[in-house]
Amino acid sequence: MRAQTMKRVVVAFALALPGAAIASVVAAPAAHADGCYTWKRNLYQGRSGDDVHQLQIRVAGWAGRRDIVETDSRYGPKTAAAVKRFQSAYGLKADGVAGPQTYAKLYALQDDDCTPRHFSYGELDDGCGQASWTGGPISSTKTRDNALHTMWKLEALRHDLGDQPLSVTSGFRSTSCNQQVGGASNSQHLYGTAADLAAPSGKSLCDVAREARDHGFSGIYGPGYPDHDDHVHVDSRRENNDDGLTNTTSWSAPDCGIGAGAD
Ligand code: ZN
Repeated sequence: MRAQTMKRVVVAFALALPGAAIASVVAAPAAHADGCYTWKRNLYQGRSGDDVHQLQIRVAGWAGRRDIVETDSRYGPKTAAAVKRFQSAYGLKADGVAGPQTYAKLYALQDDDCTPRHFSYGELDDGCGQASWTGGPISSTKTRDNALHTMWKLEALRHDLGDQPLSVTSGFRSTSCNQQVGGASNSQHLYGTAADLAAPSGKSLCDVAREARDHGFSGIYGPGYPDHDDHVHVDSRRENNDDGLTNTTSWSAPDCGIGAGAD
């Protein structure tokens, strides 16, 4: 949300106090304008449209265990369940309907460039210090959109890990950067769909890997998996239709009790 907008509303409210019609001031549309995106109607099961798509991106991290929220612009049962989890996580009435309370929380969480409050494009595009979205196998626009989707999942993960700083040590990598760091040739980092994470204060890498299972990540690699003892890798391979891989889930962090199978 734009702090400026809030300030303007408060000032208008104060000026209107002596005898003026307060109700009309409170109802001013400016109170709901958001620097990134403003929803204009309530959303619930059966609705569809770009506003549903926008919502699906923001609740992507509230998928159930080993599941994802499809960004298909249709408000189905999975979207409703994700909205419910988002609502409970932030202390709202959990009815699965996206209305003013849910939107107010989303506005509070999103910056004007649509990134969630605690993550930024700058943090996700820093591969090999290049600070760009180019040089990968897909367009920079799509790569950047993938990174935004990843960040909303990270915001949910961060919240459930106790709302402490969660550092991304590697996000998007161009093909040359990926070669330089010895990444797999079909690495999700090439698509903006991956992030490597450090453990937040007071938490272990295993805490991060275990918690990630509930936040829409279909790729998780952590302690015990080769070369992953010093970070946790999370990605969205299941939703990535550009990587030539079948859309499966792949988890492995043997030292945390996470195998590729049942958990
Ligand atoms: Zn990684």
